[in-house]
Amino acid sequence: MAQEQGAVPATQSFWLETAGPFEKRPAWQGHGRVDVAVVGGGFTGLSAAFHIKERQPELRVVLLEAGSLFHAASGRNAGFSMTLFGLELGVTVVRYGRKRAKEADEYMVRAVNYTRELIRRLNIDCDYEEHGMMTVATNPNQLRKLRRQFELAREMGLHETAWLKQAEARELVNSPTYLGAWYDPLCALVNPAKLAKGMARAAADAGVELYEGSPVLSLDPAGPVTLTLPKGTVRADRVVLATNAFTAAFPQLRRVQAPMFTYIVLTEPLSRRQLEAVGWRRRIGVEDGRNFIHYYRLTPDNRLLMGGHDAVYHFGNRTDRDHNMNIARKLMQNVVRTFPALEGVRFTHHWGGPISVTLDLVPAIGRLGRDIFYSVGCMGHGVSLTQLNGRTLADLVLDTTSELTEAFFVGRRVTPLPPEPIRFAVINAIRGGMLLQDAWDEYRGASAMSRRPVERAAGRNV
Ligand SMILES: Cc1cc2nc3c(=O)[nH]c(=O)nc-3n(C[C@H](O)[C@H](O)[C@H](O)COP(=O)(O)OP(=O)(O)OC[C@H]3O[C@@H](n4cnc5c(N)ncnc54)[C@H](O)[C@@H]3O)c2cc1C
Repeated sequence: MAQEQGAVPATQSFWLETAGPFEKRPAWQGHGRVDVAVVGGGFTGLSAAFHIKERQPELRVVLLEAGSLFHAASGRNAGFSMTLFGLELGVTVVRYGRKRAKEADEYMVRAVNYTRELIRRLNIDCDYEEHGMMTVATNPNQLRKLRRQFELAREMGLHETAWLKQAEARELVNSPTYLGAWYDPLCALVNPAKLAKGMARAAADAGVELYEGSPVLSLDPAGPVTLTLPKGTVRADRVVLATNAFTAAFPQLRRVQAPMFTYIVLTEPLSRRQLEAVGWRRRIGVEDGRNFIHYYRLTPDNRLLMGGHDAVYHFGNRTDRDHNMNIARKLMQNVVRTFPALEGVRFTHHWGGPISVTLDLVPAIGRLGRDIFYSVGCMGHGVSLTQLNGRTLADLVLDTTSELTEAFFVGRRVTPLPPEPIRFAVINAIRGGMLLQDAWDEYRGASAMSRRPVERAAGRNV
């Protein structure tokens, strides 16, 4: 049946749909005493719980998940395991200086390598594929900006990346919109829901007690920490809040981060002819050089997944806005703009999810009182980061000082976000400025293209 032009069904995440069944876990009931309670069953919580229990099997470790395990960002993301830290290198350097930006790069390289190592060690089947990624410039301003970032990374001695000229980039993926690309060999693609499912299995096998449908409604930090749930309480010596974008629900941490939504569309499986036409010769992941990037990749069954374009904050820290047809439409248009040969392709899925954003766009692992640790601000780059952060949180919970706990964003002072309604205004002012710059870059790029024949005719070297 022909699909109405510009339409896409609002669905759940394709990854959750294709990860296979995972045994349902009970809800927490009664009053219990534990050594460690981990709140949140996404990548961060699963990794933290797994590492704590693996290191100290004698501890009673419980994981309390409000809904279903990994139903939030961890089961919905695009699956890029990548090295990007913060918004972009230049911003991190301006805010934190070169030394810290280099440390952050080392942490991220370790995160990507550690994610691969965990997947192999725990034998997790998550369609892991390693082809690197490229960040493509689709207009002259993006080209200048990306080239500057690449030169800066090289000058600072960050991990090895390469610059691809237009023809080299188009050799990998043949979009007429590409002008050049920054290539990072250290990026892998996964089915994130399968990765999370594998981590949940590993945590359960190590002896972590997993509870679903168990929202923590409040916490009293006086030791032992008391967590209140709908059907009981948990008293814990140590607590990890792995609640990511949902962290604003705890009044004590309302100001450290805000939830923003990013959205995805997915096509039907591309035919061999369509794949040849788009010239996706290596199954590399791609992002573009906008502030609000487009990120895209092929799924194992050759659907094209594209996300990004904008990120939306909903007044009052809302975390239940999983679909946005306006953004879905823009994403569908951008698929065809990027690959004109896909005109008429059918879109089968659209979903989104909340990411956690701090005011300076850099992650933070922090401590609340003496016994509560939290992790926020992984933005759209948490697939690898959260796996390693789980180990860092385990070190903190077990009072172990390590290279990981020395990372500058562990225990950093987080610039507080203002309360509503100023929060809404501040976030939208920043977002608006970034979107305006994206639009301006695109407008300038388009007008430069339309001037080209005239300039050529006038014999100018463009
Ligand atoms: C659409 C989308 C695309 C993305 N693409 C990428 C990508 O390609 N690469 C990348 O690196 N990153 C990407 N990200 C970001 C990445 O998914 C996240 O950084 C990462 O999954 C965060 O994991 P987490 O465990 O910290 O949080 P989450 O997965 O959000 O898990 C938090 C969990 O805590 C639970 N919880 C919250 N409050 C409570 C409570 N009070 N009691 C009990 N449980 C609670 C929630 O129900 C949730 O399950 C993307 C995110 C989205 C939404």
